Amino acid sequence: MTQDCIFCKIVSGEVPSDKVHEDDEILVFKDIHPQTPVHLLVIPKKHISSLADITEEDYGLLGRMMGRAHLFATKAGSINGFRTIVNTGKVGRQDVYHLHIHVLGGDAPLPPMVYRNS
Ligand code: 5GP
Ligand code: ZN
Repeated sequence: MTQDCIFCKIVSGEVPSDKVHEDDEILVFKDIHPQTPVHLLVIPKKHISSLADITEEDYGLLGRMMGRAHLFATKAGSINGFRTIVNTGKVGRQDVYHLHIHVLGGDAPLPPMVYRNS
């Protein structure tokens, strides 16, 4: 638990969330501001700031998070595919510095992956 980390507070239960999966090392919950009909966040329970801060000992955990994304997406109703995004650091426009995988989906195809807005 890292003080003042909103996702650590969600892990501890101090901040409520709409959980869709929980096990001993992973929590999956709905994004509070969904960008698509299905918008989940897959996070490790232990605090890792970003994808730029993982160590080799985290590779297995990351594999289990990514490897189960299709199960979480399907269970949430995105049955014909989904998109995973990991925003990292300033360039990636990461807002919350507790590693998370966005799982985005729904019924209809999503917009193009990256667009230029500046
Ligand atoms: P980032 O920009 O860091 O990749 O994404 C952070 C995501 O966390 C955003 O999509 C934002 O809506 C979501 N988020 C931020 N605070 C909360 C919260 O308290 N609860 C939930 N469920 N999602 C949050
Ligand atoms: Zn945290």
